[in-house]
Amino acid sequence: MAIGTSSLPSVRIGQGYDLHRLTKGKKLMLGGVLIDSSTKGAIAHSDGDVLLHALIDALLGACALGDIGVHFPPSDEAFKNMSSELLLQRILPLLQSEGYRVVNVDSTVFLEAPKLSPYKTLIQDNIACLLSLPKNGVSIKAKTAEGLPPIGTTDAVAASVTVLLQVNA
Ligand code: MG
Repeated sequence: MAIGTSSLPSVRIGQGYDLHRLTKGKKLMLGGVLIDSSTKGAIAHSDGDVLLHALIDALLGACALGDIGVHFPPSDEAFKNMSSELLLQRILPLLQSEGYRVVNVDSTVFLEAPKLSPYKTLIQDNIACLLSLPKNGVSIKAKTAEGLPPIGTTDAVAASVTVLLQVNA
């Protein structure tokens, strides 16, 4: 069934995944929230926010609109160190123009340290705000990797996101 026609499916699902290397001396951003600056941060062309990158891929995937690399090529200097919140804000109108709104987001962050418990509510609130969703429309879960590389050895951070879209009434 084609997107952008009168026969829009009533719901669409999307999934996204991202991983970045971690190194000392970089900031760690997750869901638009700065995480304990004494730990390692992500090596990336943008701000390296794996959670927002996975969210963007999930939203694009739900509408079959490609992936984050297509819309924001790493080779383009315009996106260097750009806030991932700004990238997300550029993607949301594409969903709206396809006739969809976000129903809910479920996510898992894979990070060995620090523990994300103190940050989960902040991240949940921030993503809910970015997507104009109620707080209970955004789920943030966290996993360690039991010491196994590369995430368990604190050399990487990753995130997996699933979204549900509903056609705009
Ligand atoms: Mg990324």
